Amino acid sequence: MPDPQPPVLPADRMHPATRALDAGLRPDPVTGAIAPTLVASVNNVFVPGSAGFSAEGADLTEQPFLYARWTNPTVRALEERLAGLEGAEDALATATGVAAAAAVFLTLLKAGDHLILSEVCYAGVYELATRVLPDLGIAVTPVDLTDLAAVRAALRPETRLIHAETPCNPILRLTDLAALSALARSAGVLVSVDSTLATPVVTRPLDHGVDLVIHSLTKFMNGHGDALGGAVIGRKDLISRIRSRAGVYLGASLSAQNAWLILRGLDTLYPRMRTACATAGVLADWLAAHPGVARVVWPGAESHPQRALATRQMALGGGMIAFQARGDAAALAARMAERFRIIHYAFSLGHQRSICVQIGTEEIQRSTFRMQGAALDRWRDWAGEGVFRLSVGLEDPADLIADLDRALVP
Ligand SMILES: *Cc1c(COP(=O)(O)O)cnc(C)c1O
Repeated sequence: MPDPQPPVLPADRMHPATRALDAGLRPDPVTGAIAPTLVASVNNVFVPGSAGFSAEGADLTEQPFLYARWTNPTVRALEERLAGLEGAEDALATATGVAAAAAVFLTLLKAGDHLILSEVCYAGVYELATRVLPDLGIAVTPVDLTDLAAVRAALRPETRLIHAETPCNPILRLTDLAALSALARSAGVLVSVDSTLATPVVTRPLDHGVDLVIHSLTKFMNGHGDALGGAVIGRKDLISRIRSRAGVYLGASLSAQNAWLILRGLDTLYPRMRTACATAGVLADWLAAHPGVARVVWPGAESHPQRALATRQMALGGGMIAFQARGDAAALAARMAERFRIIHYAFSLGHQRSICVQIGTEEIQRSTFRMQGAALDRWRDWAGEGVFRLSVGLEDPADLIADLDRALVP
């Protein structure tokens, strides 16, 4: 049997694609097994006197495994892998992506504080921030984060956090993370970014000065549509505050089983994202040339309104496309649901199989964003009366084109 514990190459010395496979992975010390072991145990034995009853401020490096709501060996392996991928000191895994956002908001904000929120972001996070936080005495201002003068104007002495999302779901507008972080730092305000649509293959937000990265691991990170998960990634002091407050007391911890599935998904993150991004480029070109399509938004395209920023901040164009149809969008949605043979007409995104859904402006404005005036005009600049959100999977591009063509022909 080989040496069961060969020296581990520190994650920060690996190239990113290697980190996706190796960061946090140690062969099992007993068996030498290479694949991560699924440790299902909820609790671990400890030496009396070495651990207290309260989780408050407990140190993960001294007593890492005590009770699985805190963390568990398989969840910890995932957290180390995620920290390695984002070039961060530490990570906290959560039950879902929304739980990760809640962990950040409910740790860093208290009554009397103020949050600046991207005026377009994932609906569940937007609704959490604008419906739940105000009930707790936390003021929230949605702002167009592409407009730094507007961000500056929205800052208050009580502002503690700016929450961004880039590319933002569903219109794929980008936020300049370096510029936003510089502005926030000068005001003594932290920045969190939901990087679910980018993944570290496309953008590593911490390299651009952001304080905390949030992921829904449910999407491209796991990539197989079979596990919910979330994560907060960043500096050790911030993550340990978030773990001891939200991880332990809000209780939305990730299960070992899902951590194991997501570790398995991360093994192929780089080749999956490279394939999805390349196929998205082919589909974006094809859609842009189709007479039934009025407009295509894909961050990798020359035509993206923030092309220069995309080139600076994104290594690849991403696996998401937003497009507007000419004519009756509801009828096209119905044809998609009926005629697609490969693409699924469904919510969610970032799976190995392509997914498409229509997001109508009237409906999402009524249910979620409730924008008016200039904000609504800005939304319409990108989405018109609605977009089709296409999450590109790993199928052959020719088959996806045939599927889209079947639906686009009236
Ligand atoms: C899906 C998604 C979330 C929420 O993640 P869940 O795992 O479903 O809770 C958050 N942000 C973005 C950008 C998402 O796409």
